[in-house]
Amino acid sequence: MSESLIVKNLLDFLSSTPTAYHAVDNVSSILIKNKFEYLPLSSDWKLKPSGKYFTTVNGTTLIAFVNSATGKCKSFRIIGAHTDSPGIKIKPNPEFVKEGFFQLNTEIYGGPILSTWFDRPLSLAGRVFIKGKDAFTPQQKLVNFDKPVAVIPNLAIHMNREINNGYAINNQKDMIPVLISGVDEKIPVKELLENMISEAIKIPKKDILDFELFLYESDGARLAGINDDFVSSSRIDNLEAVSAGLEVLKTAEASADCLKVLAYYDNEEVGSSTKQGADSTLLSSIVERIMESNGVYSPSAVSKAIANSFMISVDGAHSIHPNKTEKYDPINKAQINKGPVLKISANQRYSTDSQSASVLKVLANKAKVPLQIFVNNSNEKGGSTIGPIAGKYLQMPSADLGIPMLAMHSIRELAGTKDHIWMVKLLSAFLA
Ligand code: ZN
Repeated sequence: MSESLIVKNLLDFLSSTPTAYHAVDNVSSILIKNKFEYLPLSSDWKLKPSGKYFTTVNGTTLIAFVNSATGKCKSFRIIGAHTDSPGIKIKPNPEFVKEGFFQLNTEIYGGPILSTWFDRPLSLAGRVFIKGKDAFTPQQKLVNFDKPVAVIPNLAIHMNREINNGYAINNQKDMIPVLISGVDEKIPVKELLENMISEAIKIPKKDILDFELFLYESDGARLAGINDDFVSSSRIDNLEAVSAGLEVLKTAEASADCLKVLAYYDNEEVGSSTKQGADSTLLSSIVERIMESNGVYSPSAVSKAIANSFMISVDGAHSIHPNKTEKYDPINKAQINKGPVLKISANQRYSTDSQSASVLKVLANKAKVPLQIFVNNSNEKGGSTIGPIAGKYLQMPSADLGIPMLAMHSIRELAGTKDHIWMVKLLSAFLA
């Protein structure tokens, strides 16, 4: 695949994926186009050697795999990532009118840089459940308003002279968008949002049971910089990793007795401890199920396969910030467009150790990909990833890898086009 197509695919994926629901839906469509078959968790699985499959949980987590050519499952090579991003979610019963403005009540998801959400054209997207054939089978529909419908306005500097000296944001008071002006407070607005949803998904309002909507910035991903060095977009953390892994698995060939796997989890940004998060037995039970469906399951066969396996947890890394160099380790720091980053932490906030780092160094060398090393400044706690969490359930060697970015968790993060291309090459070498 050409390098410009890899970058174009990333920009398109970022722009068309406002939520984790859309991430799983878009990844599913691309997999189906590449002859992957959907396996519902609630049905029996009949796997064929060299078959390509995927399953989903909650519409926000996706596990895809290429079965081995022999049906033996002697090892698994897993690319892990997360589908969710920090943001602003609409609360239930959100509608109200204040001073003539129609507004929606909101709640913060994860740890966004809230100041970056002000004064932006925002849209709404998420999922809606409508009546199914019985109470236990409501049907999910995705919704995306796909145009700027809301703005969270700043207070003018004339009334907040201290704003440039740091301002403590009140989540409940300050992060409330305006959607319509000049609304008569006497007019009932309780169902205004449901009317908008009903129109967008073309389903009568009486059939809508519930919904989960997020605000998102409606200007899509774009290249930036004099030489187009940068990708500027929302949700680069962690849709860049989702896109990179997908590029590799969608065309991966089956190997003799090793399975190639993508494990894309939801809820990393809120700690992963959910039924669809990495802090669950989800992937280990799918590994068992794959082995059972291939007719090679036994507890000892599972533990042997896991011991022979390897995981790369792919998640955004930090680039050095030229204006804040004091925040970084003096030696182990990474730069945008100098290659993917191996993340290392003595306190095991990342899963990389010298064994797994050695594997990655050999793979990067083979793929002709430069590899950078990142360790936090010892005074900084830093973030974490799904790597150490998934390792609780699957005791296999694992490395934490990511492309370096600036402004992580801003409404527009900044990453490097070359790093994404190198990430795809490195993951290709991993699944070769
Ligand atoms: Zn992340």
